[in-house]
Amino acid sequence: MEKICFIVAMRAEVKPFIEEYGMVEEPGFFAPLPCQLYKAEKNGCQLFVVLNGQQHGSDLVGCEAASVATNVAIQRLDPDIIVNSGTCGGFRSEGAEIAKVFIGNGAMFHDRRVPGDDEWSTQSIGNYSVWEGSAEMAASLGFSMGKVTTGSSLDMQPCDLEVIKANGGQLKDMEGAAIGFVASLYGKPVLYIKSVTDLCDGGAETIEEFRRNLHAASLALREADRRVIEYLSGL
Ligand code: SAH
Repeated sequence: MEKICFIVAMRAEVKPFIEEYGMVEEPGFFAPLPCQLYKAEKNGCQLFVVLNGQQHGSDLVGCEAASVATNVAIQRLDPDIIVNSGTCGGFRSEGAEIAKVFIGNGAMFHDRRVPGDDEWSTQSIGNYSVWEGSAEMAASLGFSMGKVTTGSSLDMQPCDLEVIKANGGQLKDMEGAAIGFVASLYGKPVLYIKSVTDLCDGGAETIEEFRRNLHAASLALREADRRVIEYLSGL
């Protein structure tokens, strides 16, 4: 693969990665959108990082910003693959540990409750597929896999958990399925790399656990990103 585009929500998640690759920002590339572009070349590959950007002094997390970033990244950069690299909540009961990195094997939404028939519920859940080489890559690099489950909130309400359990969700985030949705419209493959910052069934306050572990999870993410790039650039 020659053009790899990472879509990332938070600057802190990708800072170690940007520094390692000496990535350079192209200010204003997506103006007037808030998305930010960083570029580098590695092993004959063009690497892009597209950050959702900021508003009100904070990083734009969530589905809306991720959809905008993915759409404009595909239109302007036409990458061979979209890689959503970010943090997530994991379940101890599913083998998650803090700063453990998983590769996604699918992506769904857990907080879109739309009454109607099967077609409406199919749309709500989403169930987007991942790049077809994901499982082979995970096996070859020694990563566990899990299903990304996306919602608009950091907390988890009982009704969210019900949908997550009923549909096999494992890696709880706020962007993954939105990125999967946009990429599916263009027929672009998506690879998910998710590093655990907090345990949804661990009993701790999510935001505190998230903040405590963000740096460690981001360092683990950098290492995983590096190994994935090595793998993808050989394809
Ligand atoms: N910026 C805030 C919190 C970030 S929101 C702060 O530090 O105060 C959480 C971000 O991390 C989102 O981009 C989401 O994708 C990811 N994330 C990590 N753990 C999550 C969880 N348990 N549930 C949902 N998203 C989670």
